Order: sequence, then C-alpha cells, then structure tokens
Amino acid sequence: MTKRLYIETVGCQMNMLDSELVVASLRKEGYELADSPTGADAILFNTCSVRQHAEDKIYSALGRLKHAKNHHPDTVIGVIGCMAQNHQQTIFRRAPYVDLVVGPGQLHQIPQLVRDVARDRQPRLEVSLARSAGSRSEVEDSFESYDPLRDPTMRPTPFQAFVRIMIGCDKFCTYCIVPMVRGPEQSRPAGEIEHEVRHLVEEGCREVTLLGQTVNSYRDRSATPHVRFSELIARLHEIDGLDRIKFVTNYPKDMSDDLLDAVATLPKCSHYLHVPAQSGSDRMLKAMKRGYTVGEYREMYSRIKERIPQAAVTSDFIVGFCGESDADFTQTVELVRESRFKNSFIFKYSARPGTKAAENAADDVPEAEKRRRNNELLAIQNAISEEDNQPFIGREVEVLVEGPSKASQKQADDSHTLQLTGRTMCDRIVVFEGTRRQVGEILPVVVYDANAFTLFGSVVTSHVGPEVYSL
Ligand code: SF4
Repeated sequence: MTKRLYIETVGCQMNMLDSELVVASLRKEGYELADSPTGADAILFNTCSVRQHAEDKIYSALGRLKHAKNHHPDTVIGVIGCMAQNHQQTIFRRAPYVDLVVGPGQLHQIPQLVRDVARDRQPRLEVSLARSAGSRSEVEDSFESYDPLRDPTMRPTPFQAFVRIMIGCDKFCTYCIVPMVRGPEQSRPAGEIEHEVRHLVEEGCREVTLLGQTVNSYRDRSATPHVRFSELIARLHEIDGLDRIKFVTNYPKDMSDDLLDAVATLPKCSHYLHVPAQSGSDRMLKAMKRGYTVGEYREMYSRIKERIPQAAVTSDFIVGFCGESDADFTQTVELVRESRFKNSFIFKYSARPGTKAAENAADDVPEAEKRRRNNELLAIQNAISEEDNQPFIGREVEVLVEGPSKASQKQADDSHTLQLTGRTMCDRIVVFEGTRRQVGEILPVVVYDANAFTLFGSVVTSHVGPEVYSL
C-alpha cells in the first residue's frame, strides 16, 4: 500500500541534496511525496543550525504537530540533519512526540529507522560523535557521507544534479556551527565521484553542481598521488554528454591558481565563483578566525579577474558580528563597492551556542543596527547588480532551461507557450517565453531587459544576429 511522506527542508544545497536522497530511499519503501503534513504517514524536517531563526522555525512547526500526533499516533515524525546532530535529546525534551532524531552522518539508516519506529513506537536517536569525543578517525568514521546512486525521477530536474564531493569542515570560523554538526573535513574518492557523475550523465544529466562546505579544499588523499580539485574537475570534464560543471562554496584561501586555470580553460566549467568574504575589516576577519586578511582576499579576487575576466563572483557577508564598529562596517561597504560582486548574501550575525564566538564574545551590536547595516549593504549590492546586468541587454547568452518560471507554474499543462526560466554559464537567471519541450535544452537567448536579479530575453530562432557570449 502506498504511504505518504511529507518532508520540509531548510538550509543549504547540501540539505537539498540530502532530502532528495532520503526521499529516494523512502520511495523504495513505498512512500509517495505529499504536499502537506495532513494525513502523512511520515513527516520529516531536514534542518539547519546555521541561524537561530532556522531552528526556531522547526520548533514552531513541531509545536503545530502536537495536536495532530494525538489524533494520529501512528504518524512517524522525524527531525534530521544539522539540528538533530546539534540538539539531540533536547528535541525529544521540547517535543516528546518526535519519533526520530537523525544526524547528517546517519541518513543512510532512515528507511530502517522509520520501519523500526512504525513497528514498536520507540523513539530513535542516531547521531555522530562530538568532535572531541574520540580520535580524529573515530569521529570521521561516525560521519558517513550518504551518496547512493539516484535515478532521474528522484531529482528535481533530470538534467541537473548536485553531487557531494566532500563533507564536513576543519576551518572553525568562530561564528559557525558547521564543523560541529557536519564533522571533520573528508573528501570522497575521485573515482567514486567520477562514477556517480557518469551514471548521472547516462541518465540524462547535463549539469552537475559539486558540493562541499569548502569545496575548493577538496583533496582525495586515498589516491597516490593525491587528487587535487582542479584534477577532479579535469576528469569530470572528459565525460561525454556532460555540458556544465559548477561548484560551491569556495574558501578564499584555497582558491589556487591551478583551480582558476582549470575554470578558465575548461569550457564546461561555469564562470560562477561563490567566494564568501564575510567582512571587509581585518579586525572582524581576525575575530571570525577566517584565516585571511582583506588584502589577501583582494589579492585572490584580482587573480580571479586576471585569469577569468568574465567571472561572476558572489560573496556572503555577516553584519553586526561581535564588536563590529561603524568603521568596520564602512570597510565592508568599501569592499562591496570595489569588488562589484554579481550578488551578495547578507546575514545579520546570529550567535550559535557551541561556537567560539557565542562562548567568548558579546553579541553587542543592537538588532536595529544589524538591520540597518544589512539593509544598507543590500541596497548597495542590489544597485551594483542592476548596473552590471545592463550591459547584457542586446547580447545573446546560452541558457540551460530549468523549467516554468514561478509566475507560470500554475498555468495549465496543455498551454502552448509559457514563461520559462534558466541560467547562463555564469549563473545569471534568465526569463523568457518558450514551450515545455524546451525544458532541459541549452538555448541561445537574446536579452532585452535586466534588473538586479534577472535578465529578460527571447529565444533566438535564427543565428543571424548578435555575437554569442559564453556567459
Ligand atoms: S569555512 Fe567557516 S563558515 Fe564555512 S563551513 Fe567552515 S567553519 Fe563554517
């Protein structure tokens, strides 16, 4: 009998991939995805611990299920991912009707755990070792990368896939909980990754996004000699049928010349580089223990632009970090103005229990000031993004068509034309009129308008026209 699974995912692309894999594993157990928790046989929350707000949202969602669980005691309720590893028993204490708490290193156990709970109604807690609870190899072994082969129907689009190339992080930025909840940095063997990508391509995948918390720190140490990230990319580039290779998130200090040369010279590599700066102030970078100075970030940025002038570089910034003064913030503004990032993700600092910053430094920038700095930086970045999108007007760009735009998702399946959305090689979003048959194709599109976030265009039907830019 078909069972219904409702899953809610918050957080990063790593979580989106984890959810996709968990859903695939439960589909094999006879579960079908449900649009709402009402009437579901299993309800899972795949969680994030990076910000307080993300955790609060999960506790609120669990609170809303209390009543439903009283009426449907057979429903299996699970909290999985980073918050499960971070909060463990606290989740059972705050929501005693939760059945499963499963960390990111134990996702492969979920089908069995769901079966066990359905059978005996006993709660299950499966998490990895804390980073100080054993030797490095014991802790590493307790975080298992979950990368089963997937069939195309399991992915949001059959022609795109996330591929995890490493797990964990060893950088220990003082504000960040990731090294605690995702464990030590461990790279997957290059051969295994290549096998997975070949399988995906055989199943119709054209674009892979390689994932890692610090993806450019990748190094396959199980091989002799070690395989560097640039070498992994070169191997994947050889795969016939694969058209695009992207990767996120880069760590500034590990942006090596050989990697930039690979991106510059291998035509399947996207010229999109997400390299979070976090702050433009050396004082703040030191307090965050980011491991570089603003000068070093600028030097890395110039190396990118020297080798790949058309690169679209994006960044993350934290505003209102402990002790951030007006002068520190002004330096961040200067970095944003001068770097002209394609876009920046800007976050107000949120103290995370268990991190060095939460233990040792006062979260002393008032909330209103954090909000003001956030809004100011966002406005500056948006103005830059809008200006830098204007030169695209009149150009032809290559777009991988991802599907109907949000606005046209509700349109009837039989409508002839609809608004489609896709991305250029440099990860710019393009919206244009097309047909459902074009989804999954790479099409030439001429841009006729642009705002800070989107290019608007028309599909080129004849190739007599403007020069094509591989952007
Ligand atoms: S590099 Fe820093 S911010 Fe990024 S995941 Fe590792 S500890 Fe967190």
